[in-house]
Amino acid sequence: MTTVALKTAPDATNYPFDVDRIRADFPILARPVHGKPLAFLDSGASAQKPQAVLDAIQRAYSETYANVHRGAYYLSQAATDGYEGARKRVADYINAASADEIIFTRNVTSAINLVASSYGAKFLQAGDEIILSQMEHHANIVPWQMLRDRIGIEIKVAPIDDRGNFLLDEYEKLLSPKTKLVAITQVSNVLGTIVPLDDVIRLAHAQGAHVLVDGAQGIVHSRVDVQALDADFYGFTGHKLYGPSGIGALYGKMELLKQMPPYEGGGDMIELVTFEKTTYREPPARFEAGTPPIVQAIGLHAAIDYVDAVGIENVAAHEATLLEYATDRLSEYSDITIIGQADNKAGIISFVMDGAHAHDIGTIVDAEGVAIRTGHHCAQPLMDRFDLAATARASFGMYNTRADVDALLAALDKVRDIFG
Ligand SMILES: *Cc1c(COP(=O)(O)O)cnc(C)c1O
Repeated sequence: MTTVALKTAPDATNYPFDVDRIRADFPILARPVHGKPLAFLDSGASAQKPQAVLDAIQRAYSETYANVHRGAYYLSQAATDGYEGARKRVADYINAASADEIIFTRNVTSAINLVASSYGAKFLQAGDEIILSQMEHHANIVPWQMLRDRIGIEIKVAPIDDRGNFLLDEYEKLLSPKTKLVAITQVSNVLGTIVPLDDVIRLAHAQGAHVLVDGAQGIVHSRVDVQALDADFYGFTGHKLYGPSGIGALYGKMELLKQMPPYEGGGDMIELVTFEKTTYREPPARFEAGTPPIVQAIGLHAAIDYVDAVGIENVAAHEATLLEYATDRLSEYSDITIIGQADNKAGIISFVMDGAHAHDIGTIVDAEGVAIRTGHHCAQPLMDRFDLAATARASFGMYNTRADVDALLAALDKVRDIFG
């Protein structure tokens, strides 16, 4: 196994980037699959969990578990401290101005649905325009279409070029005084394209439009500072950030959250309820109806601590070396076409192979212990853009190595043996 020694980035702590040591923190990586060593190359769909996260979950259930925000008793207070501590940790990690600007959700999908539903009800009306990009995940398309069908907004789509570069000029042409919201991904989950968010947000604000960033792939490959970005909303999903499933977060500027109506009704989000009328609490409580994902939040806290100890800049630098290596190696084969060669890319590489369907590639390499994603990656409009039904996609996490890429290459030889 390779050990990659990286220079410590100025922001990072002094955790030496020793990939073997990191791998040892992820128990699942040691298990064989189909009798072969596991090469897990699907962190873009969901990342594996370090022991520190598993321990935090175990501790939360075995030592400090009860429902939050209600009990006067010790355990309820301890669980509340854990849950609210996680909110504070998320706020600090993405540099929100206040923990009250962080709403815990199920995942980024529910974060976007919350904005579409609640922000949509307050700020959007028939004839208003919103802009998405051609690279959006279905999670950042379908909620807007549902809103369009309900209230009659118009959806414009900012294009990309054949290499997957976001076309800032074309985007700028779509902006007008009718534009109320730009909802856009930070990094394409299929192409790996990094969107020039600073420019996207600046141009949107110049037209008076708000911006929602889908940070599902962005936060796992880069340092996020929502205030520096000046994003109005930023959503991400915990399970791709080495945390548990069932937890995500929505950041929103307080001045907007305060004006937005509740998304779901229920316990914990109310001030006073009578059968005639209910009044709602201030954000974030207003948007967290019912018992929240208590232990998932505590697990996310541990995941952020872990990522921060490693240093996300170190992770990004490590993944960049893997991306370059994988791109070089895959480019050696004339039967492979890499889909997405944008100038600015994160650790995601999609490809197609002559004569082999993506699903067959996925199945054959799986037999070799190699886990990659195949299909439309919840981005069918993007597949249409490239005239493809599906691609194979390898996506990197902090624990991946060149050996994982080599395993993929060797497994692709098996695909050639069968289809070639
Ligand atoms: C994975 C992903 C989503 C959806 O994440 P969920 O956890 O399923 O809500 C949305 N957008 C992008 C860019 C993604 O990669």
